[in-house]
Amino acid sequence: MEEVCQKVAAANSRTYVRLSNGLRNLTGMEGYEALLKLSHKSFRYARTEEEHQSIIDDFNIPEENIVYCADAFDGFKCICGKKHIYHLNIFEWQNENEENLIIGSKCIQTLAVYDKLNEEYPDLYNKVKEWAEIIKEETKKLNNNKCVSCNDYTVRKNYEYRQPQRKHWCKKCCYGDFVKCISCGKFRKYGYSHYHNKPLLECPQCYFSQSPPSPS
Ligand SMILES: [Zn+2]
Ligand SMILES: [Zn+2]
Ligand SMILES: [Zn+2]
Repeated sequence: MEEVCQKVAAANSRTYVRLSNGLRNLTGMEGYEALLKLSHKSFRYARTEEEHQSIIDDFNIPEENIVYCADAFDGFKCICGKKHIYHLNIFEWQNENEENLIIGSKCIQTLAVYDKLNEEYPDLYNKVKEWAEIIKEETKKLNNNKCVSCNDYTVRKNYEYRQPQRKHWCKKCCYGDFVKCISCGKFRKYGYSHYHNKPLLECPQCYFSQSPPSPS
């Protein structure tokens, strides 16, 4: 067990050292000082050539952060030097060129569990924790759809649920055959409108109370 812990700690310190060196080369500041000066601007995916290009169009990224390849799209480079970063975070870094830096999500998540960082640079540790929290939330949005009732991103995308209602309602808002009405929050039996070709989101009371009054 201890050996495993040591391995994790070593990996974390390696991430920190690599990031520090990368930032020092680029900014001339000590790694932790440079990290403290960064503010999280955006969370993006660069899995396709279009996503890659849109990041280049939207942000001024320093050359050191971009990987170019002769034959195909190749992604970005984390400021720590690791290549092929698709799951990334853009940070504002105020230099004279107003460039933005890219750091991979993995590196931030690794730093967020690096205890030494907490001992040595508590303000930085708190900041990194906040960034890790942003990554967690944004990743949830990428992999999940919103539950139609509570609006939480908890319904898995591209997943074959056995019950059709689970494709729209989360576990909390679905109970056997019953689903939560999106207006009043009461559970009612799941129904599907074949006419509109979509699930009925409201209970009959809510649905009919909103329909226009019938002509007299
Ligand atoms: Zn990295
Ligand atoms: Zn829900
Ligand atoms: Zn209702």
